[in-house]
This record gives sequence, structure tokens and C-alpha cells, in this order.
Amino acid sequence: MERTYIMTKPDAYDRGLIGQIITRIENKGFKIVDMKMMNLDEDILKEHYAHLADKPFFPEIVEYMMSAPVIGMVVEGSGVVDSMRKIMGPTDGLEANPGTIRGDFANNKSQNLIHGSDSIENAEIEIKRFFG
Ligand code: UDP
Ligand code: MG
Repeated sequence: MERTYIMTKPDAYDRGLIGQIITRIENKGFKIVDMKMMNLDEDILKEHYAHLADKPFFPEIVEYMMSAPVIGMVVEGSGVVDSMRKIMGPTDGLEANPGTIRGDFANNKSQNLIHGSDSIENAEIEIKRFFG
């Protein structure tokens, strides 16, 4: 069965939105098959966001992602990788349509509440990264 790695970000924790995010995943009929709260360190974030390492905002992302706990989840279902990206909405909350998580709750492109794997291949890499 297809799986993806979903992670609520520190702003979801600070704003008390974790429950609403999980509810949207469950309402869609996807199964949360593993879940844990973590305080991430710099090493794992540098690995996870390696594709952004040369961007000027990279240090800010790392600081933000270490500012409060995250909830990592393995979510399972047919077509779950692409479907979760649709449920999340695009990176920038201002571009994201209402009805998406980012469209409903985020208004910028850095503090955007949720991470979701962007391909089946990356999902398996990320699940291994955060769940071993
Ligand atoms: N990000 C940012 N500014 C940008 C692009 C990305 O702060 O211009 C942050 C944001 O938190 C984003 C994360 O870096 O979610 C990872 O970027 P990516 O392009 O992978 O976006 P995503 O897959 O999360 O939509
Ligand atoms: Mg990404």
C-alpha cells in the first residue's frame, strides 16, 4: 500500500491546529499507521531540507523547525502521496486555495503548518529518516 510522510510543523503546535490537521487526513479516509512527537535537531533538518541548502532563507527554516515540537506521521492509502499534497495546498499559504490546510490556516510561504512528501520515492526515504 502507498505511504507518505506527513509532519505537522512548529506553528501547528503553537497555534493548536494539530487536531484539525489530523482530522482532515482521517476525513479523507487515509490511515495514520505510525505517529510520534519529536524535537528535531539541526542534523536531521539539514538532511531533510538539503534541496534548499543554498537558499538565503535556509537558516530561518532550520530555526523555525526547531522552535517547537513536530508530529511525524506515516499515512497510508491508495494515491496518498499526491492526494495529501492537494489536501495541504501549495507552499505559499497566500496562493493556496481555501479548503486546503495551507489555504485555510497559513498566510505566507515559510510558516505553512505541514510537510508532505512530494513523491513515492521521497516518501520512503523520509519515512526511513524519521522512523528508522
Ligand atoms: N520555504 C520557505 N520559503 C520559500 C520556500 C520554502 O520558507 O521560499 C520553506 C517552507 O516552510 C516550505 C519548506 O521550506 O514548506 C520546504 O520547501 P519546499 O519547496 O519543499 O515546499 P513544500 O514541499 O513544503 O511545499
Ligand atoms: Mg517539499
